Amino acid sequence: MTDSSNGSRPPSNGTQPPSSPFGGFSISILDEESTSATGPSTVRTAEGRVDAKLVIIGSGPAGLTAAIYAARANLEPVVLAGSAPGGQLMLTSDVENYPGFPEGIQGPELMALFRAQAERFGSRLIDVDIDRVDFSERPFRIWARGVEYRAQAVIVATGASALWLGIDSETRLRGRGVSACATCDGFFFKDREIAVVGGGDTAFEEALYLTRFATKVHLLHRRDTFRASKIMVDRAYDHPKIEIHPNTAVEEVLGDSKVDGLMLADTESGQKRRMSIDGLFIAIGYRPNTEAFRDWLEIGEGGYLVVRDETGSKIPGVFIAGDVHDHRYRQAVTAAGDGCRAAIDAERWLESEGITEVATATAW
Ligand code: NAP
Repeated sequence: MTDSSNGSRPPSNGTQPPSSPFGGFSISILDEESTSATGPSTVRTAEGRVDAKLVIIGSGPAGLTAAIYAARANLEPVVLAGSAPGGQLMLTSDVENYPGFPEGIQGPELMALFRAQAERFGSRLIDVDIDRVDFSERPFRIWARGVEYRAQAVIVATGASALWLGIDSETRLRGRGVSACATCDGFFFKDREIAVVGGGDTAFEEALYLTRFATKVHLLHRRDTFRASKIMVDRAYDHPKIEIHPNTAVEEVLGDSKVDGLMLADTESGQKRRMSIDGLFIAIGYRPNTEAFRDWLEIGEGGYLVVRDETGSKIPGVFIAGDVHDHRYRQAVTAAGDGCRAAIDAERWLESEGITEVATATAW
């Protein structure tokens, strides 16, 4: 899989994302083979393979909530968290709509709390991207950085990644003024004039965030109506540093070694104009991270995984949670709820298969 297999947006462009509160690669606690009250424990075999009751792929709100629930049900989940763990919230600044934080919380801080809670109950988090999977039979097999993982059940929570415009000049100038992460790179545009592309909540959120640094933020949208919530659109219209340009497409990013402008086109008249700016932030939506599962799971509308019977897939024992299937809500809180549901379904399925003992009263 790509660098975004954990459900995070792609890493920043040549600049570092905020320092990660996450730990490194460690599975030392998998060394001893043992048997718990609910079935065989997660172990590392003599060949270096890792055998687990449950492997969770992804470490955004869905994956880590699934880990919290599964760990509390003694499933000792192994979480293949991705090389840039934490999901999209790692690249999000203020999260104001996650319940329990009336003053808001920074995305990375929230994910550090998720991770600490998952680890507190015994989840094993390993910060690796998966390479491929084989779901043809049980135990399911997953390969990541040269290690084979075998699991009786799997929860796929790989999230979605940011989209790019797909023009050559955008690719050429990535990390040289073109970015998909305002939180990572906004600081570098202090007292500069910049632009954001997109008409959804992400674009408006990033434009508002970037006003902390930039002297002016141009929001460029190809239509004259917006997908973003009304409150965000109103805030942007009211903001003295933001100028909204409807019916505007980016034809080319200008600059040799770094961005110095844009060639724009009016999407109605076709008229072109040059805009001088120092930075361009792309905020045009997401692509679900499904590459590794294409041969095994159903892919539906927009490339999202298809869920059966709430959190299941067409393969019994393989469950799906979060943005990798949810093209409708795509919120941290809905992903977290989905992870909870998937973990409960996985536990009940493992019990029904006799892989773990039936819990008389699971303390969810
Ligand atoms: P989105 O809602 O899908 O919006 C993507 C925007 O990018 C659309 O306006 C789209 O234009 C435009 N776009 C797509 N491809 C383009 C291209 N090639 N060139 C130019 N423009 C292009 O994506 P999003 O803003 O990333 O939001 C995704 C989901 O996350 C939404 O459900 C959103 O509500 C949620 N979200 C919530 C929050 C929050 O609550 N704090 C923050 C961020 C995101 P068209 O409109 O013309 O298609």
